[in-house]
Amino acid sequence: KLTNEQYLLYLVTFMKKLEKEKDYITQLDSVTGDGDHWVNMDMGFRKLIDQKSDLEALTFGEMFKKIGMTIMSTVGGSSGVLYGSGYIRAAQTVGDVQELDATKLADMLQAFLNAIMERGKAKPGDKTMIDTLHGGVESMRQKLAENADDAAVLQALKSGALAGMESTKEMEAAKGRAYYQTNKGVGNLDPGAVTMYYQIEALVDVLM
Ligand code: ADP
Ligand code: MG
Ligand code: MG
Repeated sequence: KLTNEQYLLYLVTFMKKLEKEKDYITQLDSVTGDGDHWVNMDMGFRKLIDQKSDLEALTFGEMFKKIGMTIMSTVGGSSGVLYGSGYIRAAQTVGDVQELDATKLADMLQAFLNAIMERGKAKPGDKTMIDTLHGGVESMRQKLAENADDAAVLQALKSGALAGMESTKEMEAAKGRAYYQTNKGVGNLDPGAVTMYYQIEALVDVLM
């Protein structure tokens, strides 16, 4: 079961990975967009880590709401609004609980995904962060339906997200800045899909 404490550990774990991949993510968004994706994500998640002591005492519902509002107000660019909407919807979905089991986690991620799709008017296959999240949620749900154990469900979340991320490489962008590139970003991974994968990877690693 995922606790609030583990969630905060996850934020720190993701942040470390993000710091390590600064040049890679910046370069990806430079060739497919405007080069600021790493700066945007770093700004938002750094702020969340600064708020760690405030987040510690909260239920999941309260914590996700606060995270969503913080990201919305600190992160410029499309990712700020999209993550903000995702977290706020996730807050409403989980409610005031102290922990999330695998089923609740799947519901949370599904709500997060749905909010992002609605806010960005985008769908799987458009070469965005949605592809990673959708791949992860779908394969997680499949394992849950088979009544697999938690380890298998989490493993499926991670491997489905990885496959979703990788699928963005050869996609033509239908949304985001890559759409305006002459080659529509074909041949490069979508930067937002990659940072979404880092988040899912960090979350699963903290839980395993
Ligand atoms: P901006 O594009 O405004 O500079 P970022 O660089 O922070 O913002 O984020 C870019 C990422 O946001 C893209 O790589 C893509 O994954 C995601 N993205 C952009 N537009 C959309 C959309 N309409 N729906 C979902 N995700 C999107
Ligand atoms: Mg950008
Ligand atoms: Mg920008």
